[in-house]
Amino acid sequence: MTVIDGKATAATIRGELRERTRAFEEKYGKKVGLAVVLIGADPASQVYVRNKIKACEDVGVRSYANYLPETVSQKEAEELVSDLASNEDVHGILVQLPLPKGLDADRILAKIPFEKDVDGFSAENIGALAMGQRATVACTPLGVMELLQRYGVSVEGKRAVVVGRSNIVGKPMAMLLLNANATVTVCHSRTKDLKEDCLRADILVAAIGKAKFITEDMVKDGAVVVDVGINRDENGKLCGDVDYEAVLNKASYITPVPGGVGPMTIAMLMKNVCDAAELSMEK
Ligand code: NAP
Repeated sequence: MTVIDGKATAATIRGELRERTRAFEEKYGKKVGLAVVLIGADPASQVYVRNKIKACEDVGVRSYANYLPETVSQKEAEELVSDLASNEDVHGILVQLPLPKGLDADRILAKIPFEKDVDGFSAENIGALAMGQRATVACTPLGVMELLQRYGVSVEGKRAVVVGRSNIVGKPMAMLLLNANATVTVCHSRTKDLKEDCLRADILVAAIGKAKFITEDMVKDGAVVVDVGINRDENGKLCGDVDYEAVLNKASYITPVPGGVGPMTIAMLMKNVCDAAELSMEK
């Protein structure tokens, strides 16, 4: 059994990205730029934004932080994003979700042109992914694929089961696995016999949001188990959607929580920003 080390892999990727941002600056005389928009004062969102800005500093991306009060109007928020959209120094735009009540997130996100949509949440990017075309892909599922690839886990021809169908994790995850020639099943809260489906998985991805939900009896011997979940257990300790200790000896590969998929998400955000910057200059 191999424990997949997302923290070390993310550190390697950040090193690679440092080279890319340096080369970009040398070639074009400016830095790769990411604009971050935070509306309101949600404590979790503040932490996420701070971590993203720190990651920018680490890999040599210039961050443009935009903090708006909770009382901002829909029009003002949309105008800010439109301004960032036309700013040539900004190669990626990230609006931290969730937004305060009363703001229409879809209309604000719609102001991000798909070339700057580094979260990969836009309909254009999701559509392109579904069609197997070049797309900016949501960072968490992209990070999962990167981990599988870097650990030499082959996907082609495998039975992959994704538990969870959210637009930001489950669905793009399933599409990436399908594009990589896995045979994919997507399960959700209305799935009739989840255990039966999970037991068929060569690759099992859990993106549910329920602590230790995937138990040992749901995992086939030798399966690759990827745990996207971030939860607190009954003692307040961070844990995933998989009962890690119990599943550990059944899996051929497994991602821990913390230290598995989590660190890859921000690394992939930085990668998406670099891709967007290089692409914008090549055009
Ligand atoms: P979400 O939007 O709440 O989606 C959860 C999915 O799980 C839904 O599709 C839901 O089915 C399904 N589900 C819920 N209960 C189920 C059950 N009893 N049986 C089968 N399926 C069930 O959550 P998300 O945004 O995708 O996130 C999932 C988890 O990943 C969370 O723990 C989140 O914190 C974590 N996450 C981690 C990262 C990272 O960087 N590592 C990034 C994003 C999210 P229905 O569609 O039928 O409701």
